[in-house]
Amino acid sequence: MKKTCPQHGPFEELIASSAPLFLRLERYAFDDSVKLAEIPGGDPAACPSGCGICPGHLSSASMTNLDLTNRCNLRCPTCFANAAVLPYVYEPTLEQIRTMMDRALAIRPKRLQSIQFSGGEPTLSPHFFDACRLAKERGIRLIQAATNGILFARDPTFAQRAADAGLNGAYLQFDGVTDDVYEITRGVKGLWEVKLRAIEAMRKAGIRVTLVPTILRGVNDHQVGDILKFAAANMDAVVAISFQPVSFTGRVEPVERRARRYTLTDLAFDIEAQTGMLKAMEDWWPLNIVTPFASIIESVAGTDSYGFHPFHCNSHPDCGLSSYLLINPATGQSVPLSQLFDMEQLLKDVHALARQTERFPSRIYATARLLHMILKDYRPENAPRGLTLAKLAKTADAISGGRLMGITKERRHEWRLLLVSSMHFQDAYNYQVERVQRCTIHYSAPDGHIYPFCTYNCGHNFREKIETRYSVPKEQWQKAKGALAAQ
Ligand code: SF4
Ligand code: SF4
Repeated sequence: MKKTCPQHGPFEELIASSAPLFLRLERYAFDDSVKLAEIPGGDPAACPSGCGICPGHLSSASMTNLDLTNRCNLRCPTCFANAAVLPYVYEPTLEQIRTMMDRALAIRPKRLQSIQFSGGEPTLSPHFFDACRLAKERGIRLIQAATNGILFARDPTFAQRAADAGLNGAYLQFDGVTDDVYEITRGVKGLWEVKLRAIEAMRKAGIRVTLVPTILRGVNDHQVGDILKFAAANMDAVVAISFQPVSFTGRVEPVERRARRYTLTDLAFDIEAQTGMLKAMEDWWPLNIVTPFASIIESVAGTDSYGFHPFHCNSHPDCGLSSYLLINPATGQSVPLSQLFDMEQLLKDVHALARQTERFPSRIYATARLLHMILKDYRPENAPRGLTLAKLAKTADAISGGRLMGITKERRHEWRLLLVSSMHFQDAYNYQVERVQRCTIHYSAPDGHIYPFCTYNCGHNFREKIETRYSVPKEQWQKAKGALAAQ
């Protein structure tokens, strides 16, 4: 990427280490055509500095974040929220949490399906369990916490109490499979053991785990394959991985940026080299690949009383990539979903059908056409021994909770699907307004506005403004809270 700053002149930034893969990913840009309604209203003419979700924004939220506190029980050098080291405490009241949640739920046309409590370490908020209950009462399907896992590991009852309150997902910080990695990324010893205990507690409580590794070149990029293998071996608890190449904060000189920058395409090639389970040039897709499938499922399955909408992720193709691995935990076999189909053809067909069903939603027509396409584009010669099309259909139906074909209500099947994804959050050097205008990860803030992740945490950085406005000085907070202040 080449940019020119009126003050500092031209500069360049590396946004992908492999041009062929970058171009391949850019070819698949599906448009949600979403027109957001019931929005608080920022100013599209002043994008992104006038942000708050505005009529110009191009994507609905696949997930909305709600920060419960900026306190944390770690001091990670990689934290984009600078949690725990700031001179103030930002910790919304339960009333503020309720209002922020309702504000996010009011946005139309696609009702929010997924909320993530974040921070800081959200489990430290005195309102954590109540926040989970509020989300459950409102029928939000995926209620998750972005957590370092410490409280889950430390207190054997914590995971079950959280699950009882409504928590059904954990976005677990998971930078590698050995302790030395955490010493660098998180600044403390002993965290690997903590991760294992936290996952065990979550497994017992039925909380589905997404592993969230922050990847730094030269620190833990040699373990991306081991992280994938760990997930594949623990699919009774782990349902997804979301790799996050680190974003730079502050001023970083060009030579240092060049040495430390880790891109999405680096990840794809490293995973191929370290595992052979996914081919870089064949098995990775932009995150938005789910969008045409989601449109068809909507036409086929309809919406329920809460306005169920399948997972849309209409982000810009440069924001992230994904792959889906079918794994048989009993035998250890795995195959990328994309190897089972003529993907080029299937995507063309599905995209065309999605457009048709949006205009003429007919359940019978969409189901018949979809089945025809799947049969036509299926490549049985690539299926591992024991994986039949019927078993594949059961797995797909289970993921939709039986809505797609109505043949199953169970979520667990012989062959399970692992989502392997990555999102490269932006920083000041690789910032693209086109990306943030499609952002699907939103924040609900106490000022009544909703912000895309990459205007909240970088670029215009609304986080700083919101937190200073709605926080109290740390000393004042410590006096008021006494013992809790030690955390
Ligand atoms: S980033 Fe999106 S919500 Fe923010 S001002 Fe731009 S178009 Fe509007
Ligand atoms: S959070 Fe940033 S990287 Fe992710 S979709 Fe939004 S703009 Fe793109």
